[in-house]
Amino acid sequence: MTHAQRVVQPTATIEQRVAAVEAALHARGLKPAEFIDEQRHQIEEQWVPQNGARVVARAWTDAAFRQRLFTNGRDAVAELGISMPRHHRHLVVLENTPTIHNVICCTLCSCTAFTVIGLPPDWYKDLEYRARVVRESRTVLREMGLDLPPEVEIRVWDTTADTRYMVLPERPAGTEGFSEEQLAALVSKDAMIGVARL
Ligand code: FE
Repeated sequence: MTHAQRVVQPTATIEQRVAAVEAALHARGLKPAEFIDEQRHQIEEQWVPQNGARVVARAWTDAAFRQRLFTNGRDAVAELGISMPRHHRHLVVLENTPTIHNVICCTLCSCTAFTVIGLPPDWYKDLEYRARVVRESRTVLREMGLDLPPEVEIRVWDTTADTRYMVLPERPAGTEGFSEEQLAALVSKDAMIGVARL
């Protein structure tokens, strides 16, 4: 076709396009509304940071589990009944220490170990965060309320489709004798991303 022959079609509205996609799915016997409800239920009830918080609390209290978590994160979280999608092939658990602080991002888009730490917050998907946390991580963390002393080394980890990360925060002082449940209640999604310490 030459340029002269091209016919300009009016662009369909969003509503028209949604209706067309739905009609196409229905025509193939699929049920998009039910699928969306199921997905929403899964996201709200099952993909929650309380999963990761349980993992962290277990790692703080069980040295053998902690070791298994570093060796193969995916298998270790499965011990607590937490599954990951098949394409999340590796869960790499990053240990914070008094001198090393880990922070995760996805420079391309928004990848996280969402079945473990919950869905990414809006700011995590923001172009600003994705670009700047790599180039000027100390400044970005300070802007987010985490002012790390200069002697703490910051390590930034860029998530890929098949390698997902979670930060293992340091166990807060003064929590000796806490139950696993009490410890888990201290752990936030931000701490498992690495933009907060506990
Ligand atoms: Fe991504």
